[in-house]
Amino acid sequence: MKVIKIDKKDWAGGLERSRNTYKLIGPVKEKDKDISSFKPLGKDMLPDLDVMATSVSPKSIVFPQEEVMLTYTTDESKEDCNLFKSHDKDYSPRAVIGIRPFDAAAFLLVKKNFDTPDYRDPYWCDAYEACTFIGLAINNPDSLDFSPSTKTGPFDTSGLDVLLVETEDSYLAQVVTEKGEAYLNAAGWENEAGNGVDKQIGDMKKAAETKITSSISYDKIKSKEILDLYNADFWDQASFACINCGTCTYVCPTCWCFDIQDETRGKKGIRTKAWDSCMFPLFTIHTTGHNPRGTKLQRVRQRFMHKLKYFMDKYDDGIMCVGCGRCIRSCPVNIDIRSICETMNNYEPAK
Ligand code: SF4
Ligand code: SF4
Repeated sequence: MKVIKIDKKDWAGGLERSRNTYKLIGPVKEKDKDISSFKPLGKDMLPDLDVMATSVSPKSIVFPQEEVMLTYTTDESKEDCNLFKSHDKDYSPRAVIGIRPFDAAAFLLVKKNFDTPDYRDPYWCDAYEACTFIGLAINNPDSLDFSPSTKTGPFDTSGLDVLLVETEDSYLAQVVTEKGEAYLNAAGWENEAGNGVDKQIGDMKKAAETKITSSISYDKIKSKEILDLYNADFWDQASFACINCGTCTYVCPTCWCFDIQDETRGKKGIRTKAWDSCMFPLFTIHTTGHNPRGTKLQRVRQRFMHKLKYFMDKYDDGIMCVGCGRCIRSCPVNIDIRSICETMNNYEPAK
């Protein structure tokens, strides 16, 4: 794989040059708060590459927390009264700088839902295709990172266009795709790294993977009957402490539930798509008042069955989790997907 060496002294200059072609997005830490997220980088703003995994995942780059899909008017004097009209969107090229490998891999899992042979969500797909992902390898994974056991890892390139590996005085940029190469050209970074760089990156990758001690096991879940797991007696205990706050789903890079609402003010209206959560009772309530997931147990069971069983059965490609650890870090009552997965993996129904 071609590797370009970027001198740290030319980092800010290259980002600035790339702005002629790309809008830049990167991790930003809130002032005086322990909160970080991916945001547009205004002029002279640099991505904060010290942020390990942003508090909220970067899924909002492609799937905003709320976005306008369509507009309409209810003004009967207008020819287009009560007709939906498309809403202008900006899908010009954007470069996502400093995304971590597991977060980029998460987009590939979510793509299975939004971009299928039968159905294509134009909002998600067009925003995703506008992005060039310039990832940053994780040299020092934190204690909640279990990404290698979810088929990604601290140096995984699967969802990336470029993987940056930080050394003391440079970034070694592994070129993964043509989109990635185009970005590096736009930034004016063209110096190929010398002999031995592949070994250097390989050694750093091994060292990073060795530091990861957390893991998740799901090897036996695929062969289990859905109804055996669904009716298992451990869900009562697993869901007992949950307060249905929804935080785990909002911070997760692979959770994709959303709601569609029409909002009319005066004679003008918008149809919006906004994040929702399987942890909220209102998510599934019917207009009749019946709620098929009316209890806490049902909602917690749905979250874990979807991520760890239904997804695996449907796509036969691992679980719907990239091991970023955010839901574990953020849950106010310490519910841990690793221990629930282990319970599911080892569960045997009573004979
Ligand atoms: S973050 Fe924890 S308490 Fe909140 S909904 Fe998720 S599992 Fe329940
Ligand atoms: S389920 Fe938890 S650990 Fe897995 S991707 Fe989502 S937030 Fe990260």
